[in-house]
Parts: sequence; structure tokens; C-alpha cells
Amino acid sequence: MAGEPQSDCLFCKIVSGDIPATIVRESETTVAFRDINPQAPTHVLVIPKVHYPDAASLAAAEPLVAADVLREAGEVAADEKVDASGYRIILNTGSGAGQTVFHAHAHVLGGRGLQWPPG
Ligand code: 5GP
Repeated sequence: MAGEPQSDCLFCKIVSGDIPATIVRESETTVAFRDINPQAPTHVLVIPKVHYPDAASLAAAEPLVAADVLREAGEVAADEKVDASGYRIILNTGSGAGQTVFHAHAHVLGGRGLQWPPG
């Protein structure tokens, strides 16, 4: 059923605690944890606890939770003190765009200069 945990999903297992992660924030609807392969001094992933394959499908089905993800991304940036210098929220969508984990997630990147356009 839409939104239900998937037994083969890495991020559902982080939500359930079956796979460990360095959690930096948690809300009723979201978890934020450090990326295992950081691409910047701050690289945190914010995920909804519910399972949707990408951010757009999450927003279509549960817009309030999608808003929670964005709010928590901003809170992560403030906690990490990268909000003043600028940071990036990235929603890779589809394998052609580099998405490798098909549970919606926002990357929060900061703490270094960020190029535009991204590669
Ligand atoms: P995507 O490429 O789908 O946009 O982002 C997936 C992210 O998940 C990647 O940046 C990758 O480094 C991260 N990742 C993959 N496996 C794990 C894991 O087991 N733990 C954590 N904390 N991050 C992971």
C-alpha cells in the first residue's frame, strides 16, 4: 500500500532502526541522518518516515509530509550553521539524475563553495 514500509528499502530500514545511521534530527514524520559518502562538510539526508519512491510522488500523495521534509532540511542547515553562507537542497529524481535509493530524500549540502550548474 502507498506509503507503507518496504522490506527491500534501505531507508525504510534506517527509519525502523534495522540499519544504523548517524541521526541528527527526527520529527514525527521525518528522519535526518548523515550521508555515508559525504560530498561536502555538511551532507545530511532528510527522509519521510513513509515510503514513496521520490519527492514528487511523496508531494502528490502527502503534501504536508513533503513540506515537513523541506522544513527539516532548513532546520538541519541552521543546526549545522551553513544557513548564513548558503546551502543546497537536492532532490535527485530518477536514475538518470543520479537517484540510487528509491525512497524520497532531500540532500542538504553545505560548508563549501557550491558550483552552478551542478554536474
Ligand atoms: P541518491 O543518489 O539516491 O540521490 O542519494 C542516496 C544517498 O544515500 C547517497 O548520497 C548515498 O551516499 C547515501 N547512502 C547510501 N547508502 C547509505 C547508507 O547505508 N547509509 C547512509 N547514511 N547513507 C547512504
